[in-house]
Amino acid sequence: MQPVFSLWVTRLQNSLQSKHRRVLAVVAVACSVLGGGAFALANLETGVTGLQLQQVVESVSTATLPSWQAEKPLQLFRSDVTRSSDTADSLLSRLGLSDPEAAAYLRNARMARQQLIGRAGRMVSVQGDGEHRLTRLTARWANDKSDQFTRWVVERNGDGFVEREESAPLSVSTRMGNGTIHTSLFAATDEADIPDSVASQLADIFAGDIDFHRALRKGDRFAVVYESLEADGEVLRTGRVLSAEFVNNGKTHQAFWFKEPNAKEGGYFNADGVSLRRAYLASPLAFSRMTSGFKMRFHPILQTWRAHLGVDYAAPTGTPVRSVGQGIVDVAGSQGGFGNVVMVKHANGHTTVYAHLSRIHVKRGQSVMQGQTLGLVGATGWATGPHLHFEFRVNGQHKDPLTMARQSIAVEVSAAAREQFKRHAAIAQVDLAAAASTQVSRAE
Ligand SMILES: [Zn+2]
Repeated sequence: MQPVFSLWVTRLQNSLQSKHRRVLAVVAVACSVLGGGAFALANLETGVTGLQLQQVVESVSTATLPSWQAEKPLQLFRSDVTRSSDTADSLLSRLGLSDPEAAAYLRNARMARQQLIGRAGRMVSVQGDGEHRLTRLTARWANDKSDQFTRWVVERNGDGFVEREESAPLSVSTRMGNGTIHTSLFAATDEADIPDSVASQLADIFAGDIDFHRALRKGDRFAVVYESLEADGEVLRTGRVLSAEFVNNGKTHQAFWFKEPNAKEGGYFNADGVSLRRAYLASPLAFSRMTSGFKMRFHPILQTWRAHLGVDYAAPTGTPVRSVGQGIVDVAGSQGGFGNVVMVKHANGHTTVYAHLSRIHVKRGQSVMQGQTLGLVGATGWATGPHLHFEFRVNGQHKDPLTMARQSIAVEVSAAAREQFKRHAAIAQVDLAAAASTQVSRAE
């Protein structure tokens, strides 16, 4: 079973006990009668999506409980997530329905074609009758960056179906979690049931201090507080990380999201009000599930080449390579052992080198921002497998990129906003401490 936060489960159970204790028992019986016990009860255990449970409870409580067996035909309630391989028939059948008319309706409905069929990851809830025919279908999705979500409902109406589309505001809730690195960051966030986008944000937030490709150590720990955007209790999107702590190799790094009253954008600051955004990123590759799991599959012949004055990152061909800092492109082309190479000139005689690229996306003389894509990982030049060779030079001398990133200058919260930041950070510290001490329990 997946691990869960005891806190979350406790909250769920409390709300169930206070409001729906009797109904829950009925639901449990109904589920086992219908052979669908796995869907509702498993969700109580995993606690991942409170939605499905709420759906079930609501629906039953609106029925006339004492007489449902005698007067009403059996009702089936079930939820599942769409898959990219889904057809209208396969989706309905996975939801426990056998209803050619409903399948035909979904095949022809514009909304279903655009938003559900062939699109992975959408939660669909259905209600069916005793003959496994569709009574009602509900699907919800968020609209890009908007703070609204769409609720699409199809209901049986006599011989046909009616549909309606509603829009409602997403509700924001705060979630917390923690984990310990045993093999990789993603393995740890998976284990703690923390979404991928939070793992990526963590790697981004601490990108000036920790090279997540090279510097993670077994036993490193993290705690995080983040926003979750929900529709009718269903998590539709993960929002921003609000605060985070990362203990890397025994050193504690903290980050607090803060927006100064007159600033256009917010950012992450440590407890002393110093921005975590540095002149240089520690790594030229964005951290992702893909790059984190990619192992060197080739002999490191380059170890002997020019005493190997750079850092090699194994990554699949086509992985974007980003400029670690703002600067001007000095070289963009093919150059001997480097293959396709980009060199970027920064301030103070600093130059960074990105070699063996499969593609180059910039031109000589062009200015680039920190994080801007320069090209794609490849195996051109003296490389026996796809990887990025990266160098940091100061007036021609090779330096450790991680050291350069950590040393680079960072901005501080302005004097005017300092008191406000202190109060904000003090409160966020409490949340973070709670996140760090949350017990990760396992539902057996
Ligand atoms: Zn190299």
